[in-house]
Amino acid sequence: MKVLVVNCGSSSTKYTLFEMESEKKIAWGIVECIGLSEAYYKRQTSDAKEKKTSIKVTNHTEAVELIIEDLLDKKTGSIANIDEIAVVGHRIVHGGDKFSKSVLVTKEVKKGLKECFSIAPLHTPAHYAGILAVEKMLPGIPSVLVFDTAFHQTMPDYAYMYALPYEYYEKHHIRKYGFHGTSHNYVSQRAAAMLRKSLSELKLITAHLGNGSSITAIEKGKVIDTSMGFTPLQGVMMGTRCGDIDPAIIAYIIKKYPRYKNDDDLNTLMNKESGLLGISGLSGDMRTTIKASAEGNKKAKLAFEMLCYSIKKYISAYCGILNGIDGLVFTAGIGENSMAVREKICANLHALGIEMDAKKNNEPSVEERFVSTANSKVKIMIIPTNEELMIARESKVCLHASAQTDE
Ligand code: ADP
Repeated sequence: MKVLVVNCGSSSTKYTLFEMESEKKIAWGIVECIGLSEAYYKRQTSDAKEKKTSIKVTNHTEAVELIIEDLLDKKTGSIANIDEIAVVGHRIVHGGDKFSKSVLVTKEVKKGLKECFSIAPLHTPAHYAGILAVEKMLPGIPSVLVFDTAFHQTMPDYAYMYALPYEYYEKHHIRKYGFHGTSHNYVSQRAAAMLRKSLSELKLITAHLGNGSSITAIEKGKVIDTSMGFTPLQGVMMGTRCGDIDPAIIAYIIKKYPRYKNDDDLNTLMNKESGLLGISGLSGDMRTTIKASAEGNKKAKLAFEMLCYSIKKYISAYCGILNGIDGLVFTAGIGENSMAVREKICANLHALGIEMDAKKNNEPSVEERFVSTANSKVKIMIIPTNEELMIARESKVCLHASAQTDE
């Protein structure tokens, strides 16, 4: 059984074709810079063949068409016939409070997704175009939507509500949604496997640390709280995002800087010009920040310390909320690769039962592994995330579940 995973981002479309018996990737690739003159298509296959071509694609529909035509290519493609694909799984960034789990695409589901346009205007229209293009190119093949927000829908109301007038929640659905849910879900399942326990017996904190970062508190497999909010801006400091700030600062900035004229200007400031980049003035990239800090750049050092401190605060708070934890997981670009960030975050957390083994933490590896000391009450794990595989698995489960209800 083959499953195609499609991820239409704001300016790119990624895909992965899986063989589900082995859960191995057969082909994967990306159309990048959609709508720009430097657009290109890069494809890789499991036999290590790589192809990169410059192309002209003006929108996500064309990107999906190009990908599917390439998968079907008589000479270099990976499938002979569209019927080889059992189901297509679409990554959807925001499901609002409409979608609490993965769903098979129907007319009603598409209508519901359209209602989420205003809540995630950069991503949802791109997802929608991708769904329509798949329907056109792969007629009769079912599609499943897998939401980044769905895993977080178990949060209690006192965790997801903001202390604003209640009508904003009722009229405009302003509440915490949380993001990276597919990643938090995947690594929590892997953590349970590594600990040889059922998720129902565990209290975990998962730290997805990439360009965008979020921390999640999970008890018995259910999200209790997560650091991102109504949008992926809230929470810890990130590459170019400010994370938590006093909201009154924004009103003050508008008064001080007449150049900030509208919500777009302010969103750019908080999402693209802040975080590591805003503090160091150098880069939003963690590797660049760490290198500059090592070379004596004081602002880069400050940026690094601020980012680690903000993560440490969330982990400590979530340890309190959960009344102690069994496992702490690091994942994504920074979480999987930066020993310096992990070390700084875990330093002096003995009171919470978190003790890192410096030697294990410094061993380079791309495998799942433990990096806590033998005596650490909390097991610290590094788990490479695999959102595409999680989407493929969810799509397969959803397809089977719908087949059963049809019988
Ligand atoms: P995204 O959120 O875009 O998916 P990633 O999960 O790929 O991002 O994470 C990108 C971040 O990971 C960048 O800040 C990058 O510098 C950082 N990163 C990757 N490898 C390392 C490393 N070896 N050391 C420190 N940071 C790293």
